Amino acid sequence: MSDFDAAIVGAGVVGLAAAYALARRGQNVVVLEREALIGAGVSSRNSEVVHAGLYYPTGSLKARLCVQGRRALYAFAAAHGVAYEQCGKLVVATSESEIPALETIAKQAEINGVEGVRAISGDQARAIEPGLNAAAALDVAVSGLVDSARLYVRAARRDRSPWRRDRLQRPVRGPKATPRASWCGWAMPTARASPRAGW
Ligand SMILES: Cc1cc2nc3c(=O)[nH]c(=O)nc-3n(C[C@H](O)[C@H](O)[C@H](O)COP(=O)(O)OP(=O)(O)OC[C@H]3O[C@@H](n4cnc5c(N)ncnc54)[C@H](O)[C@@H]3O)c2cc1C
Repeated sequence: MSDFDAAIVGAGVVGLAAAYALARRGQNVVVLEREALIGAGVSSRNSEVVHAGLYYPTGSLKARLCVQGRRALYAFAAAHGVAYEQCGKLVVATSESEIPALETIAKQAEINGVEGVRAISGDQARAIEPGLNAAAALDVAVSGLVDSARLYVRAARRDRSPWRRDRLQRPVRGPKATPRASWCGWAMPTARASPRAGW
């Protein structure tokens, strides 16, 4: 028998979101993090922008997951008391010569299934944001901001394992596949313990 159904290395936003999704399905998950805090890696340095998914290539995982993830992120934030603001953003053509590029972005956004993208004139853009140098713009209603630190705390709250308070400062040094007669999975060696997990 494994100690956990799944072990996740790294309590960044990706690891925490994966752990949250697995825990919701009833899986017993442990997240092992080498730093003293969750979200202390790249996730602590992000700009807290919730991206719309305008630019990613057609059919790419990024295109699909950015749109799905954005919707899921707003829903999670609303349900769990994480501050967010769907304030929208303007993508601006600063001269007539940039308008074809703006149209290309609008087409890609439509292909990617990004809702709420509206082509507007320079005057309309200035009505939203005075002082803009805009020949035209895209008004992207679904872009926004989120309190990422609170997001990580709320996602981690789902982890109810006995390891919950003991999972930090646990650098994993080379997970080892451990096939056994009765069980096949992974041992996750850390300096202080080696929890085992099925995945
Ligand atoms: C300047 C900047 C601005 C950004 N702005 C935005 C933005 O506005 N919006 C947006 O959506 N994205 C933004 N991003 C991108 C976003 O921050 C990253 O895509 C995201 O944080 C990556 O999360 P992660 O969980 O994959 O990685 P990380 O947050 O780095 O998590 C990985 C974790 O694994 C841990 N770890 C690594 N090895 C081990 C080990 N052996 N044992 C135990 N733990 C280990 C690390 O300590 C770390 O905590 C930005 C990125 C940067 C750099």
